[in-house]
Amino acid sequence: MRSLLVPSLCAALLLSACGQSPDKSAKAEAAKPAPAAQVDEARLLAANEPANAGQWMSYGRDYSEQRFSPLTQVNAGNVKELGLTWFADFDTRRGQESTPVIVDGVLYVTTAWSKLYAYEAKTGKPLWAFDPQVPGEWAVNACCDVVNRGVAAWNGKVYLATIDGRLIAIDAATGKPVWDIYTIDKSKPYAITGAPRVAKGKVLIGQGGSEFSQRGYLSAYDAQTGKLDWRWYITPGNPADGFENKQMELAAKTWSGQWWKTGGGGAPWDAITFDPQTNLVYVGTGNGAPWPSEIRSPGGGDHLYLSSIVALKIDTGEYAWHYQETPNESWDYDSTAQIQTADLQLKGEKRHVVMHAPKNGFFYVLDATNGELLSADAYIPDVNWAKGIDLKSGRPIKNPYANYSKTGKGAFVTPYYGGAHNWQPMSYSPKTGLVYIAATHSSYPFVATKEDDNPMGQKLSISFAKSAAMLKQADAPKFNEGYLLAWDPVNKKEAWRAKKEGARSGGTLATAGDLVFAGNSANEFAAYRADTGERLWGADTQTGALAGPVTYEVDGEQYVAVVAGFRQTGSYWAPNYSRLLVYKLGGKAQLPAPVDFPAPLLNPPAAFGTPEVIAHGEETYGRFCSTCHGSDGLSRGMFPDLRYAGAINTPEAFKTIVLDGALSKNGMVSFAKAIKPEDVEAIRAYLVAKATDAKSHEQAATPAAAAATPHGG
Ligand code: CA
Repeated sequence: MRSLLVPSLCAALLLSACGQSPDKSAKAEAAKPAPAAQVDEARLLAANEPANAGQWMSYGRDYSEQRFSPLTQVNAGNVKELGLTWFADFDTRRGQESTPVIVDGVLYVTTAWSKLYAYEAKTGKPLWAFDPQVPGEWAVNACCDVVNRGVAAWNGKVYLATIDGRLIAIDAATGKPVWDIYTIDKSKPYAITGAPRVAKGKVLIGQGGSEFSQRGYLSAYDAQTGKLDWRWYITPGNPADGFENKQMELAAKTWSGQWWKTGGGGAPWDAITFDPQTNLVYVGTGNGAPWPSEIRSPGGGDHLYLSSIVALKIDTGEYAWHYQETPNESWDYDSTAQIQTADLQLKGEKRHVVMHAPKNGFFYVLDATNGELLSADAYIPDVNWAKGIDLKSGRPIKNPYANYSKTGKGAFVTPYYGGAHNWQPMSYSPKTGLVYIAATHSSYPFVATKEDDNPMGQKLSISFAKSAAMLKQADAPKFNEGYLLAWDPVNKKEAWRAKKEGARSGGTLATAGDLVFAGNSANEFAAYRADTGERLWGADTQTGALAGPVTYEVDGEQYVAVVAGFRQTGSYWAPNYSRLLVYKLGGKAQLPAPVDFPAPLLNPPAAFGTPEVIAHGEETYGRFCSTCHGSDGLSRGMFPDLRYAGAINTPEAFKTIVLDGALSKNGMVSFAKAIKPEDVEAIRAYLVAKATDAKSHEQAATPAAAAATPHGG
């Protein structure tokens, strides 16, 4: 327990009941803050009843995680009149992925670095702010930026999980912490980016860490006290230590070698869905690490429970069923994308199902009570790691070509490691029967390396340098696109798609007003007809808007909100204008005009180093730098393109950052334990060569924007 600040509710009640005069008691009542975040099971179960229709009380709106709002004031007929009504600037320009939670007129939103803000949902008036003060150095333990996807609300508190692995209960009325605990072993590189969920008085939270080869687990804490109730590990530990339960013993039979030393993974970093109908929690588990399965655990095997949906009993944490989507996973195919429950008419019969569109490109429909596979169909074109899913056995028909881990040869595999769909939340409209998905149609050349021992933590065992070379081959796949996909889960086919050229699609919201809302990486937030995909409205967000949009009602007016904050397409060097944007019919607010940031200039020093030194620099860069800074010397995501970095001008400046940790507060820690001083100079020689080459080809203003995909985990 990190701190214990529980206000004594019982003592306060006793005091007012027996020790005070009626006058004084009334005065004390008036001074108390208004009840806040009064969310409970009954209310969540009635989320679609008129009394709660204007609320957005949990990450996925209600237990089903359908992100479908019954509100209709804003609809396909009038959405053209939607305008900005208020906005809130954030103090961090890192990636923003938060879904706001709105309860009784108060909006709770998180930002990068795990900060939390409460606003009046109608006006944007700030109510309180909470900064958990996570150390900047912890960023090195996050595979994919210091993002946060939101809070849970329950019984007067909001629950925030932090990038440094804490779970904090906060008084929703005052913004003061009530309890604050570590959910991880602080000596290990775990990080939390996901939103907690609360059900049956338990706060459920996982963590990220698969890319660091950590053993993933789901924890359930008592919402009132923060005491650990139960924990379920995703992968088996060292058999010599004994197994936590029967499932771990069975899972160990699907691994070989000494996986617990170098491998594991399975971190459940996003999807946690409670189903009141079955009393089960469905958790989506992460990929394995190192990525190539033959390095992780040679000789085959399914590697349970990686890349699976696992159903656990909420009361005890006991195993109920599992379905493994990618057995013997090798492509970073997390099964962590948000999980929905729904009632579908299948072959004339009403079935209560789980729906899932994980990274691996297949859309799964499972029986929610027992995990029986009902359908599995590719939802993007060109999926080639498997030729299909055999419904009888429930297993993928694997393509030997894609098993680069076994063949020892590189392979162009579709979907790419960011997945056909990642963390961007999907929505489902019971009115149209369609699921709305941020889909990505992209391929990646996977090449295994021998190394599985990166001292900095990430244990991918993938050669980014060799991948970059393969991308230049004539037979490299040419497709690389994102779009908003409407998928029909009953007829198992695409209904429509909406595409913005050069953009990745964001999370989605479906409403009873026959609308689907979704942002994209091309600085736009838009509304589409839910049945046809016709684009009806759009707003300039000045930065990518990829988080899950929400809608709510206060005093009879409907609002639509989305968090924006991703690198700007076409001008990645400018600030990303991270903000919460709130719209209503007739809204008249204006964003300040964006500041014009000129493109940076390539100004490398004179090239140096032999071809051998530069090649060694490229290899070292590929191993230690490229997961953040991009392969082939090109910028990826939120991180600087080092060809433009002033620090490449002198060996001293470069060393100060890479070895001495001059920028560690920003998350760029010292790499001294991984990179030798002479290798630092080789990396600099490589970057100078790349910058010189780029300058001579005048491609200064065209970094790899399309490759800059927020891949999430
Ligand atoms: Ca991953």
